[in-house]
Amino acid sequence: MISVAEPLLGEDEKAALSEVIESGWITMGEKVQRFERNFASAHSADDAVAVGSCTAGLHLILAALGIGSGDEVLVPSLTFVATTNSVLYTGAVPVLVDIHSAEQPLISLADAETKVGPRTRAVILVHYAGYACDEVQWRDFAARHGLLLIEDAAHASGLDGVGQIGAAAAFSFYGNKNMTTAEGGLVLARDAGLRERMRQMRGHGLTSGTFQRHGKAAGYDVTMLGFNYRLDELRAAVGLVQLGKLAQWNARRRELTQLYRKLLPAMAPEVTVPFAVMERSAFHIMPVLLPGGADRDAVARAMLAAGVQTSMHYPPVHQLAIYRRMMPGLCLPRTEDYAAREITLPLHPGLRDEDVACVVGALSGALQSTSMELSA
Ligand SMILES: *Cc1c(COP(=O)(O)O)cnc(C)c1O
Repeated sequence: MISVAEPLLGEDEKAALSEVIESGWITMGEKVQRFERNFASAHSADDAVAVGSCTAGLHLILAALGIGSGDEVLVPSLTFVATTNSVLYTGAVPVLVDIHSAEQPLISLADAETKVGPRTRAVILVHYAGYACDEVQWRDFAARHGLLLIEDAAHASGLDGVGQIGAAAAFSFYGNKNMTTAEGGLVLARDAGLRERMRQMRGHGLTSGTFQRHGKAAGYDVTMLGFNYRLDELRAAVGLVQLGKLAQWNARRRELTQLYRKLLPAMAPEVTVPFAVMERSAFHIMPVLLPGGADRDAVARAMLAAGVQTSMHYPPVHQLAIYRRMMPGLCLPRTEDYAAREITLPLHPGLRDEDVACVVGALSGALQSTSMELSA
């Protein structure tokens, strides 16, 4: 079976975990600090705040920026539900935006322009599939409307420049991401004051963290409403090992993506491949679009029978039941068409070149067999 995504974990991670266990210091210590510094420098940033998940990171950013009740935040509907949920946690309202096009399925500037209102405070850019949103046009948009720019960089770990576009960015180290700590996340922010506020909020709003209190009898005060969004030493230790391999893994993801882009037009010409040129990307996933009228579920079943797992990114947020109730009648035609035809092909550094050929062959065969069923 060729899986759609796979964590790469081995002896190095086991050794890192053993070292933490033997040290006796298991949360908010030297490993977390080193992971923050190393991740920041890999993204040309000064410093970072490690958190328990990307979702926690997004919430932390919004809360620390003072976004809340009465505010609106622009978010693409083509994203994982965590992006919009983080806005709801603060009491603010997510305003869902269409994608630019099937070839460029990133948040549409033109649609965002029509959705800015007097309550709009921020926009969350999602670097969908690992492809970076255009920083020049979005900085200009934010400046013209007086908005904060936030990045959901869950798909873009290791892509230099990402995380520096606006006020802050959240990354994910969930098990299917470009690097993993099983669960985990991290926030980059350019402003040192904002980072300090997020550090305090991450640990219940206490005025001094666990690490600083170690060995001291010092008391603490709580000066703001905080959360428990900490990362522990075990996960930070795994993160340090994974971070050391990330550049090499992303380079392999790039090669595999290039191979898909060569084989797909030759073997499955009816399929559309978004991001037609090799733009700036961390190559997190490999989304393709089936021709209109193809039965996606039948294609996925036929590919599974041929030993190839696929996935779907994403059911649009505005079509999920909880959001449908909040925004009845909302129509985002390009997102809806994209999501109805999208299928995600396997992409991870463990794939061999022949696996890619096998996936494209299975897709081509599945399209043929399912279209015969349709016409029969
Ligand atoms: C995975 C993902 C998240 C959530 O990350 P967690 O670390 O699991 O909280 C948020 N946004 C996007 C786009 C994601 O893919």
